[in-house]
Amino acid sequence: MADNFDIIAVSPHPDDAEIGCGGTLTQLAELGYRVGIIDLTDGEPTPFNDNPEIRIGESLQAAKILGVERILLDLPNRSLMDSLNARMTLAQVFRQTRPKIVIGMLGMTPQGSPDHYQSQLIFDAAIFYSRLSKWEHHFDNLPPWRIEHIYYYFTARELIPPDLPLQFIVDISKHFEIKKQALLAYKSQFRVHSSYNPPIIDWIEGMGRYFGSLINRKYGEVFYGTKVLNLNLFQYYLSSSK
Ligand SMILES: [Zn+2]
Repeated sequence: MADNFDIIAVSPHPDDAEIGCGGTLTQLAELGYRVGIIDLTDGEPTPFNDNPEIRIGESLQAAKILGVERILLDLPNRSLMDSLNARMTLAQVFRQTRPKIVIGMLGMTPQGSPDHYQSQLIFDAAIFYSRLSKWEHHFDNLPPWRIEHIYYYFTARELIPPDLPLQFIVDISKHFEIKKQALLAYKSQFRVHSSYNPPIIDWIEGMGRYFGSLINRKYGEVFYGTKVLNLNLFQYYLSSSK
């Protein structure tokens, strides 16, 4: 596994990160940044598939379409829990990949997999464990890695996200089609007229158009943060309107 990623999105299952922030990830990859997705589990079995190799192949195809790298951890699908082992496993990869920015999945999905919210708890703890000194012996002597920029993506499944001090929307109008193609690579997950899943294209179109409309663009992806900005927005507005 190579070092020094610019930005990494953590996904409980292969496809969640694409749904929440695939347009933004491919945009950053196109700009030349090193972008990764860490899948905590292989996501299998699922209702239409019980062969993990098929899902892994689809996820690699999706990563290729987006222009990002992909790292698969061996934590258990369906029984993913915020455990010491899960935290340490993800923290180890943060120490190896040294991302400047990390993005995790936000919030509970009560009608969906409980793995989603557990992934947020694991994500938060792993960021903390990644930066702890005097714990190198737990991580193959890898030095601490402090991640300063921590954000969450949102998949608009069931609930509005909790109130967080920061939210912003990235304009993905030029990258929406790539995001769509990446999601369509998951043939075992998304069937166009399934009664089990809402049609994927309707879902991501609707979500993208809604968040895009909030910034007067065609498509957008929303991100949340837990810190307020240290930024003089008045100066930014005045200088950008000169
Ligand atoms: Zn999922």
